[in-house]
Amino acid sequence: MGSLNTQEPETGFPTSIKPFEPEEFRRHAHLVIDFIVDYYKNIENYPVRSQVEPGYLWKRVPDSAPNGPEPMEDILRDVRNDIVPGLTHWQSPNFFGYFPSNMSTAGFLGEMLCTAFNTPGFNWITSPASTELENIVMDWIGKMLQLPHEFLFSGGGGGVIQGTTCEAILCTVVAARDRMLQKIGLENITKLVVYASDQTHSAFQKASQIAGIRRENFRAVGTTAENAFSMTPDGLRAAIEADVKAGLVPLFLCPTVGTTSSTAVDPLGPLCDVAKEYGMWVHVDAAYAGSACICPEFRHFLDGVEKTDSFSFNPHKWFFTTMDSCCLWVKDPGSLNDALSTNPEYLKNKASELKCVVDYKDWQICLNRRFRSLKLWLVLRTYGVANMQNFLRRHVGMAKEFECFVRKDTRFEVVVPRNFSTIVFRISPVGTYPDSTRVFGDQGANELTAKLLESVNESGKVFMTHAVVGGVYVIRIAVGATLTEDRHVNLAWDVVQEHASQMLLTLT
Ligand SMILES: *Cc1c(COP(=O)(O)O)cnc(C)c1O
Repeated sequence: MGSLNTQEPETGFPTSIKPFEPEEFRRHAHLVIDFIVDYYKNIENYPVRSQVEPGYLWKRVPDSAPNGPEPMEDILRDVRNDIVPGLTHWQSPNFFGYFPSNMSTAGFLGEMLCTAFNTPGFNWITSPASTELENIVMDWIGKMLQLPHEFLFSGGGGGVIQGTTCEAILCTVVAARDRMLQKIGLENITKLVVYASDQTHSAFQKASQIAGIRRENFRAVGTTAENAFSMTPDGLRAAIEADVKAGLVPLFLCPTVGTTSSTAVDPLGPLCDVAKEYGMWVHVDAAYAGSACICPEFRHFLDGVEKTDSFSFNPHKWFFTTMDSCCLWVKDPGSLNDALSTNPEYLKNKASELKCVVDYKDWQICLNRRFRSLKLWLVLRTYGVANMQNFLRRHVGMAKEFECFVRKDTRFEVVVPRNFSTIVFRISPVGTYPDSTRVFGDQGANELTAKLLESVNESGKVFMTHAVVGGVYVIRIAVGATLTEDRHVNLAWDVVQEHASQMLLTLT
C-alpha cells in the first residue's frame, strides 16, 4: 500500500484540487461576473488614466508564484486592490484617447464562448464550425460594408479574422512580395518598394520590415494641411516614377481610410489608378473608420475599394467587439495561401487534400487560432445591423457636438476637419478673448496645447491623447467608448475649458 502515495511531495495542501470541475467553475464564474458588473458600475469613480508609478506592482505582489492553491475570493481582492489602480480605464465613458477599444455585452459573451470551446481551428477538420462561421461572418460584414463581390467567399475572394491590423498587413505584403518575386526573381527582393503617406500607421512600416523590404525602400508620400493630410495621386506618382527611374520595383501601396493622427482619408480610386499602372498590390487600412462605413452616409469614404486587392478594419476598435479582432478581405486568396501555406504530414487530412475547405492556417502567420467569429456573430445577431449603425451614428453625433463647442470658443481651433467621431483641436495661435487678442504663434500654441493636455489628463476626470500633424501639436478626442453619453462629452468640454482658463490666466 501507498508506494505511490509516499512518492507524492509533502505540500501540506489538499491534492484533490482539479484544474476544472463544472460546479466549481459555475461558482467562481459567478464571483468573477459579479466582480465585473461592480467594476462597470463604479467605472466613473476611477481616474481614467492610471496614476501609478513605474514598477508599482513589483512592490505589491510576492516575487514568486504560490506553491499551494489560493481562494478565488483572495485573488479577486488583489485584482481590486492591486490591478485596478494600474489600469487606464479604456471602458470608462470618459475615455477619449487613441482610438476606442469598445466592448459590448454580446462581444463579451461571444468571447466567453470562444474561450469555453478553446478550439484552435487551424484547419477545417479541427473544428468545422469555427472555419465555416468565420467564412459566413466575413461575408456578412463584407456585405454590410458593401465591399465588392470579389472580396467575398461567394465571389471567389474571402475574409479571415486576424488578431491585429499589423498581422493583416504583414500577410498581404508577404503575398504581394512572393507574387512579384515569382515574376522578377528572388534576387530582386532588395529592389521592392512600398508606399504609404506620412500619416500611415507605423504598423505598415513594421510589417514591411518583417517582410524583408529594405528600410530605405519605404516611401512615405508627404501630405499637407491643404489636402487635409490625405495622400495625393500626384505625390504618389512622383515617388513611384523616381523609384522606377532608379531601377527599383514598386510593390505595394497602403492607403488609409481614417488615419490615426487626424482620421484623414486617402482617395482610394485615384490612388489605385496610379498604383495599378505599375501592377502594385493595394491594401486599404481602415482599422478605425472602417466601422462607420456600414452606414450608407459614410460608405463614400470607401469609393474605389473595388480597385484594391485587400481591405482590413478592426472590430476591436469601434465595433463593440473585444480584442483581438481584425477583419481582412482579399480578392485573391491564392496569393495569400501561396505565401503562407505549409503542409506537414501531421496535419494532413482528407478534407484539406480534396481542397473543398478553407484551412485558415494558410491565411495567417500562426498555426493556432481562436474561434473569434463567435464574438462577431453574437454582436451582429444580438444588435442587428440597424442598431450597429445607430450606435456608431450616436458617437459621431456626440463628436459633432464637441466640435461645435470648440468652434464656438475663439480661444481654440479645430485643426483638421472632422470626418468621423474624432476631433483634432488646439489652443489657437491667435486666440481672441473677451478682453483681448493673444498671439502665441505656432510654437507657443504647440507648447500650450501640450501643457493643457497634460493638465487635463492629470485630473483623472477624462483622458485624451495627442498627435502632431504638419508640425502642429493637437489634442485628439476620439468618441467611441461604449458607455459614453452626451453628459460625458459635455464634461470633457468643461474640463478642457476649465484647465485652459486656469492655464491662460497664469500667463497674464
Ligand atoms: C490602430 C491602427 C492600426 C494598428 O492596429 P493593430 O490592430 O493594433 O495592429 C493600424 N492602422 C490604423 C489606421 C490604426 O488606427
